[in-house]
Amino acid sequence: MSSLPQRVRIVEVGPRDGLQNEPITVPTADKVRFITMLAEAGLTDIEVGAFVSPQRVPRMADTAEVLAQLPSLPFVRYITLVPNLRGLERAMAAGARAIAVFTAASDTFNQRNVGMRIADSLREFRTLIPAAKDAGLWVRGYVSTAFVCPYEGPIAPEQVVPVAQALLDMGADEISIGDTIGHATPEDVARLNRTLLPVVPLSRLAYHLHDTRGNALSNVQQALRDGIAIFDASAGGLGGCPFAPGAPGNLATESLLDLLHDLEIETGVDRARLAEATRFLTSRIGRPQHEHS
Ligand code: MG
Repeated sequence: MSSLPQRVRIVEVGPRDGLQNEPITVPTADKVRFITMLAEAGLTDIEVGAFVSPQRVPRMADTAEVLAQLPSLPFVRYITLVPNLRGLERAMAAGARAIAVFTAASDTFNQRNVGMRIADSLREFRTLIPAAKDAGLWVRGYVSTAFVCPYEGPIAPEQVVPVAQALLDMGADEISIGDTIGHATPEDVARLNRTLLPVVPLSRLAYHLHDTRGNALSNVQQALRDGIAIFDASAGGLGGCPFAPGAPGNLATESLLDLLHDLEIETGVDRARLAEATRFLTSRIGRPQHEHS
């Protein structure tokens, strides 16, 4: 067996990807407390909100206030989602230092999710990403439905790679490959990596795995064997699967940490303090729809 990475960086997506998909609204002060606790647990990359339409996504309407109230910690990157140039302007006005743009490997999914074909998203990003980079921001690019699309079915690696390549060429610092409906198997991960790794440097490649079918940890293990050392996860498994009500979605950060600990891979995250953050949030919103701890 090839050697595994010695250290993994976890991108905590609970406060955005998680909370956006829970059937509750969390007060700004509680979001700020939750995110601060996650940072204090040692998570260095935290997705904290989105500058999307407050009419379409009311739960993220307070993102500017959240950013303003978060403590400025030297090693912590607060990431906000930005769908278009207007979102970038709002993010910059709010003092954002790191943003994420999102598109997909399936045209139908992208249409349903953001009302644009992939090519049209990429056209928007061709202006947006260089503008963000010129302003000194760190930029992450999400490629959703990289394995299976809920509308189109299986997605071939050849559909994923050009999207990732385009985002890199525009200046994205990191690409996050999403198994949006949690249908990938370890064989699928290995197959995608064979096509993707010659294009995307390992240091800039993250996986965003969902646990809908219970495969997330096996897929993490395959990705680790392929050298991937950046994984997205959500404290307490917040978020669920938007396409399978009641089913798990985002991989729980706690489960990811347990696996990495078993494999003796460093993360810099304190498991007990992470559990405290999850407990705090759970005490505010009630148990997430999906049991993870
Ligand atoms: Mg997710």
